[in-house]
Amino acid sequence: MASDVHPIVALDPTSHVVVVGAGLAGWRLVEALRRDGFTGRVTVIGDEPHHPYDRPPLSKQVLAGRMGAFDTGLARHDSPTDVDWRLGVAAVSLDVGSRTVGLADGTTITGTHVAIATGARARTITTSAGAQVHALRTRDDVVRLNDDVMGSSDQATVAVIGGGFIGAEVATSLRGRGLEVVVLEMLARPLVRVVGDDVSRWLEHLPGAVGVELRTSQTVLDVESAGSSLRVRLGGGDDVVASVVVAGVGAETNVDWLSGSGLTVDNGVVVDENLQAARGIAALGDVARFAWQGPVGPEVVRIEHWQVANDHATQLAHVWMTGTSAPTPLVPYFWSDQYGKKIQLLGHPNPHDEVVRVFADDAGRWLALYHRFGVVSGVVALSYPRGLMLAKPLLQVPTTIDRALERAPWTQ
Ligand SMILES: Cc1cc2nc3c(=O)[nH]c(=O)nc-3n(C[C@H](O)[C@H](O)[C@H](O)COP(=O)(O)OP(=O)(O)OC[C@H]3O[C@@H](n4cnc5c(N)ncnc54)[C@H](O)[C@@H]3O)c2cc1C
Repeated sequence: MASDVHPIVALDPTSHVVVVGAGLAGWRLVEALRRDGFTGRVTVIGDEPHHPYDRPPLSKQVLAGRMGAFDTGLARHDSPTDVDWRLGVAAVSLDVGSRTVGLADGTTITGTHVAIATGARARTITTSAGAQVHALRTRDDVVRLNDDVMGSSDQATVAVIGGGFIGAEVATSLRGRGLEVVVLEMLARPLVRVVGDDVSRWLEHLPGAVGVELRTSQTVLDVESAGSSLRVRLGGGDDVVASVVVAGVGAETNVDWLSGSGLTVDNGVVVDENLQAARGIAALGDVARFAWQGPVGPEVVRIEHWQVANDHATQLAHVWMTGTSAPTPLVPYFWSDQYGKKIQLLGHPNPHDEVVRVFADDAGRWLALYHRFGVVSGVVALSYPRGLMLAKPLLQVPTTIDRALERAPWTQ
């Protein structure tokens, strides 16, 4: 799917940038604009009551009890302070022609530029237990989950619905606190839809190695109250009774407020290769579906990675400050800490791409290359960060799999 290319409207000192979404992408954009010398007005609108904070630690250090939920703030001592904050109030509309954002409290803010950085929210499942089934997306979510875990007995069992990245990290953190954890995965293997068949098979032994029970091919029919516990009713009939139930079943973009705006919204806000959605309006981070020049060819993608939100912010600041496209191509990067290991992925491979494992050692570390049409489309590693970073040049310019195997940069 090709996206239209919109004109870039460059910033000047009289410009007013309105950032909608006080998360990672929105905040990094503010930092990048100020770093690049923008002296005009900046307003940040956020529906959460908090200043921007980091999400990756929520399912890792915070849930593991090694970091406080309120120690995750993104502001540093040298962060910009000349920002007009509108926190705890949602944007509810956007008039594209005038770049006017309507807020839930009835007020409006008009900018010369609007950056849409409203990210995503946790997908929820509808069950009889309602809000007793936890999700994990926000700081408030982790505080609630933590309170529930603390309130349950030492012998508590936690049922995690969904064995994807968030589910696996929740399982790891709570297992590390001594709880019995059962992961209920709908598919035959966790992550198969993301990393493909081979790689998911190489990962499937990880939960068991740290004492987490993984049950695959499970259909959750309902979660219902069972005295002071919850009963997860499964299609196969072998129900799980748990003190705490967490659903990690994916995310949905926060785009409802844009309905009627006229912007193209299709699994995210559709933007061009400069992240522009319309004249003076851009989208970035988890909410953006962007035109990307990948190593195998042009694609339109939406990628929910921490590093992509950062890179988008740097890119958009460059585009708006200079009126020109950013020079460096984006190489998506993702990591996940699960079951005592670190999974890292570079690029945006398709789960159906071919994969070849090019390194493995006795410590269980390995590295593999994805390829499509004979060109390297991704690099995935288990607890081998050095090899992964050495392999990054394979994605910075299109590289054939034959050439990659010949050069073997991960061995240097
Ligand atoms: C628990 C957890 C762990 C993660 N771990 C990793 C990891 O290990 N590695 C990795 O690469 N990525 C990880 N991620 C993903 C990463 O955090 C996201 O890619 C990143 O947060 C995206 O930033 P964003 O600013 O685009 O969106 P968000 O972080 O979702 O921020 C968007 C903000 O906009 C607000 N908002 C939404 N709608 C409105 C509205 N109408 N008006 C005003 N404000 C609004 C939202 O409430 C939110 O505060 C993790 C995510 C979670 C939830």
